[in-house]
Amino acid sequence: MAAVTTAIKVGVLVSQHWKKLLYVIVGLLFLIIMIPVAAISAFLPSSEESKAAEYKSVAEKGKLGWVEMMAFDTVRYENDFSSVDPNNTAFDFFYAKVDKYRNECVETTKVKGVWRCVERDWEFVETDVLNNKNDITAFLSDNNERYSPSDFKSVIESLDDLDSKRRYDIRFEKRHLSSLMASHGFSDDKKEWTLELISSGAIYEMYDLENINIVDADPTIYNSKGWVWPTVSTRITSDFGYRVSPCSGCSSFHGAVDVGATKANVAGDPIFAMDDGRILVSKHSTSGGNMVIIKHENGVISKYLHLMSRYVQPGMPVEKGKMIGRMGTTGYSTGVHLDFSIHFNGKPVNPLAYFEEVG
Ligand SMILES: [Zn+2]
Repeated sequence: MAAVTTAIKVGVLVSQHWKKLLYVIVGLLFLIIMIPVAAISAFLPSSEESKAAEYKSVAEKGKLGWVEMMAFDTVRYENDFSSVDPNNTAFDFFYAKVDKYRNECVETTKVKGVWRCVERDWEFVETDVLNNKNDITAFLSDNNERYSPSDFKSVIESLDDLDSKRRYDIRFEKRHLSSLMASHGFSDDKKEWTLELISSGAIYEMYDLENINIVDADPTIYNSKGWVWPTVSTRITSDFGYRVSPCSGCSSFHGAVDVGATKANVAGDPIFAMDDGRILVSKHSTSGGNMVIIKHENGVISKYLHLMSRYVQPGMPVEKGKMIGRMGTTGYSTGVHLDFSIHFNGKPVNPLAYFEEVG
């Protein structure tokens, strides 16, 4: 009987307080869902790192440099990325050259009194430049391509698709940072700020914390000439010589070796001067990114491209083994690596022929 009265009492309580009970149940459910969500989000990258990831993925599609794009936007929007779409920046940095061909009859013959074409060929007509988003949009819609104009990646895919047809030969070009800064009315101060963000490696340090690892080490590999291997890693990712062209319009001869980072795709490995000499070039360029060129004795020159940061100025003397910068992925580069080359009287030679210890 006691059980029955208890059940009745509980029933009465529930009927009197069912609203409160509902609140308690909803509250408990909320906690059960939110605790794991909070725990997971603590391990997700910060918004700055995910912003860098967005830039990287868009830039990679168009063979653009994410570091340059982010430096440009950092200055253009004065550090406020809240309403910035990397797709738009990619369209600013990108343009395309289109060689147009026409199917022409090159030989005709008379068959039963009627002229007929017996041989057709493709004839070059003209080169068009797709200068901006509007030009690209118009070109794609002329060719009935389906695409979403704000999405840089799908635009590139559509262009790639058209490039594979014989009527077009499309070359993807990257706009120079200096001309972009000029066309956006950057003052000298802003230009300097942008270049400083790139050459100092600050972009990596601000936005790419996951993929940066500052390695401090001394050179350890010397060859028989006493030259220093220019970094700590010996992982060759691309050899000297002819290779499959990485993009249409790119040279297929690679007069350098590419050396991957000690931790794949993580920037920050030290870059050493191969030998004593004088800094000929230390600058940021569209294709080579942060680059350093050193003039040594006897007509020998060494070049170091795509650096994350540069520590030397043109004209400076350098000693063998001095750290001149850090490995990165600036310029035409789709991952962290050093493009290293040695030149004898202006001609590139295979660096691995001089560093048997490495190859
Ligand atoms: Zn290379």
